[in-house]
Amino acid sequence: MNKILRVILGDQLNENHSWFKDDAENIVYAMFEIKQETNYVKHHIQKVVGFFLAMRNFANRLKNKGFNVEYFKISDTNNAHNFIDNISLLIAKYNITKIEYQLPDEHRLVNYFQKELSQLNVSVKVVDTEHFYTSKTELIEFSKGRKKTIMEDFYRHMRKKHQILVVNEKPIGGKWNYDTLNRKKWNEDELIPLPYEPNNNCSEVLQDITIANIETFGKITNVFNYPISRDQALKQLSYFCNNLLPFFGDYQDAMHTSQDFLFHSKLSFALNVKLISPKEVVDAVQASFYNDETIHISQAEGFIRQILGWREYMRGIYWQLGPDFKTKNFFNNTAKLPDFYWTGKTKMNCLKQSLKNSLENSYAHHIQRLMILGNFALLLGVHPDEVDDWYLGVYVDAVEWVQLPNTRGMSQFADGGLIATKPYVSSASYINKMGNYCKTCSYNHKTKIEEDSCPLNTFYWDFLDRNKQQLEKNHRMRMMYSVLKKMQVKTEDYTKILEKAAELKLNINNY
Ligand code: FAD
Ligand code: SF4
Repeated sequence: MNKILRVILGDQLNENHSWFKDDAENIVYAMFEIKQETNYVKHHIQKVVGFFLAMRNFANRLKNKGFNVEYFKISDTNNAHNFIDNISLLIAKYNITKIEYQLPDEHRLVNYFQKELSQLNVSVKVVDTEHFYTSKTELIEFSKGRKKTIMEDFYRHMRKKHQILVVNEKPIGGKWNYDTLNRKKWNEDELIPLPYEPNNNCSEVLQDITIANIETFGKITNVFNYPISRDQALKQLSYFCNNLLPFFGDYQDAMHTSQDFLFHSKLSFALNVKLISPKEVVDAVQASFYNDETIHISQAEGFIRQILGWREYMRGIYWQLGPDFKTKNFFNNTAKLPDFYWTGKTKMNCLKQSLKNSLENSYAHHIQRLMILGNFALLLGVHPDEVDDWYLGVYVDAVEWVQLPNTRGMSQFADGGLIATKPYVSSASYINKMGNYCKTCSYNHKTKIEEDSCPLNTFYWDFLDRNKQQLEKNHRMRMMYSVLKKMQVKTEDYTKILEKAAELKLNINNY
């Protein structure tokens, strides 16, 4: 009889996988906490803690169900800290004749497993993770014959294919997308109920990370407050549907100094390590919409678009664009990421608040990631490698297949417009419109060239000027370039903006 070793990666914690329906007698399951995975970028301490807690909990669940599990902790002395050496140890220990693994979600690990496992003297089988709606290649198929595949077209295809918020092939409410209703500023009008907090004790895991000498950044207390089990993930989902979904769409793009999470679900970590599936989340939200007439279609559609649309689209794009995508730098940006991304020490209130959320909670909601932190890095001209490394390290939900298209593509426009149709850049006016950060900021959100002018206002025009050649012909940028042209007529002010931008860049860590 074949003696099989099944390798489970840290983001493959899917209890409903068909693997676990098999007779367990001749199968050993293996899970590894290793430096190969903690050290490829510098990670936020909560990200490392979250992965290890969820993995340990998953291994215990399997053991309690009678499966044979070999678990290597980060502090174990027999741990070789890379997959292949640990796998080789287990092959020898159990006389393994066959290795099975679930297809990794990133190029780095796909290539690694293909190459390294082929050198071992065992047969190898790779299976699907049974998590996503789409296969790796579905977007590639969908894109055939299209000049460009925008998210909206793919999203509509997904709505129809899976019959989500669709009746008789028509979208419920008459429209496919209620984005225009998803842009309300939150003025403390709708009460945000107390959050669901699983309060997972992490002192033991923290101790093991310290023993293993893993270099991390960011803050943590003795509790980890994102779901680490399937049960907690389902509770988080149910809490979201009952308390936050009724307002999710309205305040999707809002920002506020008193709220780190607003009406966001905090489900990304649980989804990305596969404690729950996107289908479970979408089905629950759709059921809440059908059962509760106070939930407007714009709230449910606004949320489902994120999962069925954006999340699956980003997965498809990641595979479609291939490993080269990671090297794109359309604007040839070279600047360094300012030190305050690591410390939070800046007087620019929008950045300060978004960095506080990132460094304290290993979290920032979408609009903080895109329109504050990403926007500022792009305006400043930071090299996309630096931006990617920071995003991949800082967020608890950051795994490359979803982080990379969002950061390098959507946020930094480093692909020259394969994902976004124009760069997501803005001056203070958008930030002031969507939140209250500017109210208590040291800088004046209305001016560009005064001593206390908002640096984003200065940088915004500097960015347009600097990248004129690449962007002027983009029809979605035409209006901005016609404003720029008018500004150039007043040459004195225009020169002052560029001079001020140059001075700001030299001393950016003092602002
Ligand atoms: P909610 O606002 O409650 O949204 C619900 C779910 O929708 C999320 O949990 C997520 O699974 C999905 N979703 C929403 N927007 C996106 C999107 N643009 N792409 C893919 N899925 C989406 N998301 C990650 O999961 N990992 C990342 O590393 C990541 N990096 C990002 C980097 C940048 C620059 C930007 C602009 C966005 C990034 N996102 C990433 C997408 C999004 O910001 C997070 O999914 C979201 O903030 C997680 O919080 P939440 O669960 O409360 O989300
Ligand atoms: Fe940010 Fe400028 Fe507003 Fe200050 S004034 S919060 S720096 S946008």
